[in-house]
Amino acid sequence: MEEIAALAKRRGFIFQSSEIYGGLGGFWDYGPLGSVLKRNVKNAWWRDTVELRDDVVGFDSSIIMHPSIWKASGHVDAFHDVMIDCKVCKHRFRADHLADRTKCPDCGSKDSLTQPRNFNLMMRTWVGPMEDTSAQAYLRPETAQGIFVNFKNVYQTARKRPPFGIAQIGKSFRNEITPGNLTFRQREFEQAELEYFVPDDGNDMAAFQEWVERRKAWYSNYGIAPDRLRFYELTQEERPHYAKAGIDVEYLFPWGWGELESIAHRGTYDLDAHMQLSGKDLRFFDEAAKRHYTPLLIESSAGMDRTTLTFLVDAYERERSVDPNGKETERVVLRFHPRIAPVQAAIFSLARNKPELVERARGIEAALRPAYRTQYDEGNIGQLYRRQDEIGTPFCVTVDYEGLDDGTVTVRERDSMRQERVAGDVLEAFLRERL
Ligand code: ATP
Repeated sequence: MEEIAALAKRRGFIFQSSEIYGGLGGFWDYGPLGSVLKRNVKNAWWRDTVELRDDVVGFDSSIIMHPSIWKASGHVDAFHDVMIDCKVCKHRFRADHLADRTKCPDCGSKDSLTQPRNFNLMMRTWVGPMEDTSAQAYLRPETAQGIFVNFKNVYQTARKRPPFGIAQIGKSFRNEITPGNLTFRQREFEQAELEYFVPDDGNDMAAFQEWVERRKAWYSNYGIAPDRLRFYELTQEERPHYAKAGIDVEYLFPWGWGELESIAHRGTYDLDAHMQLSGKDLRFFDEAAKRHYTPLLIESSAGMDRTTLTFLVDAYERERSVDPNGKETERVVLRFHPRIAPVQAAIFSLARNKPELVERARGIEAALRPAYRTQYDEGNIGQLYRRQDEIGTPFCVTVDYEGLDDGTVTVRERDSMRQERVAGDVLEAFLRERL
């Protein structure tokens, strides 16, 4: 993990937030490559969950909402972790992370740990000029509630009837006691949530299973190693009392299994809770049957930062090989799926000071740019390949002297490192087929 974190910083994927001031725990910034990587991950989710389905619509709710929402959802009363402090070193731990409560795991002091206390994870703020409790609000700890409270607005305006879904991607905030493992546990993060409402007609478990399969296919289509991904079925004791089924999608990180997404059958719990507190009817009116009913809910809630981190970790490889001279070499390569890779094709001029080469290479790069994520570079070819391998670029296209005569370029593929000569006029088609 340290190697990956170092690479992420060196190549501009992920920086510590507020670094020049010593950083702020649980907050991260995405650099030029990381921001594109994360955007690609979010786009891949949105494409599969919203754009390719005629039964799912998009949504974008505000981060700060009426505080009653968090009362109804149970977050005000029950969204806490149990924490324990060390009276000597003042470090704070999550009770469920402490195996031995007689000794501080950080400073080693004996009997220095406090009794467990509840700690609400919601971040608080004030709306308007008065900083009193009547103006207190919360930064949302999940995006889903914005969807529930708008259920009626959406089904009426989008003219949808269950089964149909509402999806949104957005920031969430949790005052985590122990953030860590790079972007795995943050205090500000992005979630992609799908709320799929189904009729109470007996097909709800089939709908749940369909979404589980769809999400499995998504991870697999984008090349996540199947032996490092598992869909863990929660037992009845592990699920909230109202949930009929639940699956945690987990990835095997260098430190162990970690949750990326949870898929749950939540029954009518969420809409019921808001109907009760708001007094407003959020039920669906079935025109044909002339009856009101509360749809059942299938939810998929995935962390986009954790998923981005998964793509980074899963792609990372330190590879040893023997070069044509029999010398052992090592390279670091990120084996991103071509649609996830921040740069899809790098175009090089073999020499910096040869205008004909530079001009041709720049021309090729400009021609490819509208269709692909491209980058132009020049210089020592070995170093150029090394850099592109480290950021996971699937193809490098090099313009050399031979190509000036016969119109070809050299295309080098990242994973096999194989090089082939391709005629300049078929380069676009060559890349299209492979990207
Ligand atoms: P954990 O048990 O790891 O705290 P959770 O079960 O509380 O997670 P959910 O409430 O189910 O998480 O949220 C759905 C998804 O949101 C998680 O699967 C995860 O990908 C993401 N997520 C939750 N908390 C964080 C966080 N602190 N940092 C980054 N992503 C998070």
